[in-house]
Amino acid sequence: MTELSDFPLRADLVGQKPYGAPQLDVSVALNVNENSHRIPEEAAIDIVQRLAAAVLEVNRYPDREFTSLREALAGYIGRGVTPEQIWAGNGSNEVLQQIFQAFGGPGRTALGFSPTYSMYPLIAEGTGTTYIAEGRQERFTLTADYVAAAIRKHKPTITMLCSPNNPTGTPLAIECIEAAYEAASEHGGIVVVDEAYAEFAHDTTVTAINLLAGRPRLLVSRTMSKAFAFAGARLGYLIADPAACDALRLVRLPYHLSAFTQAAAEGALAHADALLANVDDIRTQRDRIVVELRAMGLDAFDSDSNFVLFGGLDDSDTVWRALLDRDVLIRDVKIPGTLRVTAGTLSETTAFLNALREVLA
Ligand code: PMP
Repeated sequence: MTELSDFPLRADLVGQKPYGAPQLDVSVALNVNENSHRIPEEAAIDIVQRLAAAVLEVNRYPDREFTSLREALAGYIGRGVTPEQIWAGNGSNEVLQQIFQAFGGPGRTALGFSPTYSMYPLIAEGTGTTYIAEGRQERFTLTADYVAAAIRKHKPTITMLCSPNNPTGTPLAIECIEAAYEAASEHGGIVVVDEAYAEFAHDTTVTAINLLAGRPRLLVSRTMSKAFAFAGARLGYLIADPAACDALRLVRLPYHLSAFTQAAAEGALAHADALLANVDDIRTQRDRIVVELRAMGLDAFDSDSNFVLFGGLDDSDTVWRALLDRDVLIRDVKIPGTLRVTAGTLSETTAFLNALREVLA
């Protein structure tokens, strides 16, 4: 059998593991922070019509600048954001990778605060960027002084701040972002705020987008995968200074956003209110999970996201497997004694809570 070692793999990739959240066929899948709600039928019909129109022109390359999609995204974000400040990719993962391609690379460092999104070190690895993981403070929070001190110590070209943080759900105070930017500016570094779950926050008016004016090296990443229930379409985007978007144009592949992706995303944005209608339900289920887990004697962490991290498990691996035996898939994020669960529909969340009660009894 051919092995990886038979290939001239880059030395820095030898022994690395690919991103690998299990994709299993279960009735209750609450492991990758998807939106469990399907998109509404009226939006689906409009999207199919737009895809049909796009297929008739599929002999041509799509608009490389995805101009009308950038206009639609700027319209959705509001807050005075212009289409020139918008960039997009096939999921925010691709946007983050482009950021590392443009600003990272050999000899450059990126700083993150662990535990945080597992793709940051993988994207760093793939782009030859050195990744530095600092820890977090009490209950996975971060203070402005702590973040600024870490940036002053390591002087990273890229600082990654995930708000709310995955996998802990922890919100990040706006003062932390201001302090991070100030510290990074001393050596000209960029600060990336990953707001993949921003729409689920208790207070959605708090966003790094409000800090963009006068801060050209602040980049805010968002996605349609979560609140918009659009994970399968792969559309993530960036809100930043137009010059930062120009930097990403240097590394993107030509026509990276297909005509179908552009058409589908524009269709979804035309029905933004309908697609986002379930965000409140998801927040309710999230808050319910926190309350019920605490009532079971577990240590649920406060979450501003569509998932909850909980600890207090003697043997999290056994609990994870016992839940899977009951057809409920959640996530082992490798923080000892904890597991992470996505807030699903009312019935999925009930199924999870009942299964967990049974397992712990
Ligand atoms: N950032 C964070 C914090 C995430 O949790 C995820 C998805 N799990 C992403 C970015 C990437 O999502 P997508 O590529 O679907 O936009």
